Amino acid sequence: FIEMNHIKKKFADTLVLNDVTMHVEAGEVVSIIGPSGSGKSTFLRCLCQLETIDSGEIMVDGKVLVQTPEGTERAVYAEPQTMRGICRKMGMCFQQFNLFPHMTVLENILEAPRQVKKMKTEEIMPLAEELLHKVGLWQKKDMYPSRLSGGQQQRVAIARALAMEPEIMLFDEPTSALDPELTGEVLRTIRQLADEDMTMVIVTHEMAFAKEVASHVIFMAEGKIQEEGSPQDVFEHPKRERTKNFLQSMI
Ligand code: ATP
Ligand code: MG
Repeated sequence: FIEMNHIKKKFADTLVLNDVTMHVEAGEVVSIIGPSGSGKSTFLRCLCQLETIDSGEIMVDGKVLVQTPEGTERAVYAEPQTMRGICRKMGMCFQQFNLFPHMTVLENILEAPRQVKKMKTEEIMPLAEELLHKVGLWQKKDMYPSRLSGGQQQRVAIARALAMEPEIMLFDEPTSALDPELTGEVLRTIRQLADEDMTMVIVTHEMAFAKEVASHVIFMAEGKIQEEGSPQDVFEHPKRERTKNFLQSMI
């Protein structure tokens, strides 16, 4: 469903992604783990077009987002309309929830379908209600984000992304801004999506969660994939010293 081939990305003179390849099948959950600065966020941001790549290829649902013609080193992006279409398939959720502070929980959920899909409130309401029940926050629908806990805000952020009915959800450390006692409720919400066969790519520092929820685990360091495989392979039988050391340091 997602194909990212030989992605290279530089910031100034630093090669931050050095030939990274990831394929994600529909319904699969891929977890990306690795030390700080290894390029995990950058990789995810390249997929959802918050960053451009220097070379490589990205295809989503059979459509080419960007490719690098043979014999060249320069990535060529699709037409803006094609790019927008691909972008709409993806929902994103970051460490910082970035809710609109001047809007209630419900308004936060309604905003993107209204603005982007030009939907009317009454058309979105059934889904908005379903999503708020799903994340357990229907009772809080008229509150402003500042009145909610971090875990509740993050669950609103997830519901807001789902309101666009994405085919893929991307998470970048969705729990690392949260107090430990609040991470569980957010992880439960994500696990529920996995149970519903949502295609997901999750960057996380929660090793136990990555192991449990993922169908495939990627260990990145220094802008490269150092090791990947099933959660059993990577967590129980890591092949490389680099991986073993990282997993040791996370305990
Ligand atoms: P963390 O676990 O701390 O979130 P990460 O694996 O997500 O780390 P990235 O944020 O992708 O790492 O950063 C990879 C490298 O790229 C780092 O060396 C970082 O300093 C650099 N970098 C990231 N964004 C930019 C930017 N906009 N401009 C310049 N350098 C950047
Ligand atoms: Mg990061």
